[in-house]
Amino acid sequence: MRMAFIEIKQVSKSFGSVRALNQLALSVSQGSICALLGHNGAGKTTTLRLILGLLSPDSGEIAVGGLDPEAEGDAVRRFCGVLSEDTGLYEPLSVYDNLSYFARLYGMKRQDYDARIDTLLAHFDILDKKNLAVKGFSTGMKKKVALIRALLHRPRLLLLDEPTNGLDPVSIEHLRSMLRELAEESGATIILTTHNLNEVERMADQIAILRHGRNIFTNSLDALRQETNEDGFDLERL
Ligand code: ATP
Repeated sequence: MRMAFIEIKQVSKSFGSVRALNQLALSVSQGSICALLGHNGAGKTTTLRLILGLLSPDSGEIAVGGLDPEAEGDAVRRFCGVLSEDTGLYEPLSVYDNLSYFARLYGMKRQDYDARIDTLLAHFDILDKKNLAVKGFSTGMKKKVALIRALLHRPRLLLLDEPTNGLDPVSIEHLRSMLRELAEESGATIILTTHNLNEVERMADQIAILRHGRNIFTNSLDALRQETNEDGFDLERL
């Protein structure tokens, strides 16, 4: 059993009268991939923002790589790669200029990031788009560029908000193999959110289902299958 890289204990968080998280508990082992699954408003994004130290919990405890993100958010964010729902790319700039700008922010050296950018662009099959402006790209294309940006500095923790949203099936397959490689070879811990269980099949080691800010199920996909005891998945029935 590997050590937990992320430990969330009985965390609650409200925004005014809206209780986004209600006694959430979640543990994610180092080098594993956890999918946070749930409907709109279930609390997935709030969980990611708490892990990054961008929000403070009202109560409960969070440890990330042995650090408290509320007090040591800068240190936590330094070893994180993040894909948010809003990709946050500079649209007038080219793909390369967007990526090299962030590589420099991450403190990477040019000879290292140039090679890494080419490898990742090739992996996602967009090497030919390297010198084109991001403006005018489809949602899926922008998502690929933002994903590459999150992977550039080989993060120890990767937080991906809806990474498969807007991606074509071939790119989802590329993403799956890249995340597996990152987790298995570099020991990176990965959390991703999704509405769609089928898309994270074979991608996640652990599935956590959030409903109304609570974790109502955490286990492997196989265990979830046994629990639902059917081939199709219907979250309403869980
Ligand atoms: P989605 O799939 O729509 O992104 P989610 O599972 O990520 O949903 P959250 O974004 O974590 O859900 O939101 C949980 C609840 O908290 C929702 O009811 C949302 O409206 C509310 N909420 C989240 N952030 C804020 C905020 N900054 N101010 C007010 N309410 C918020």
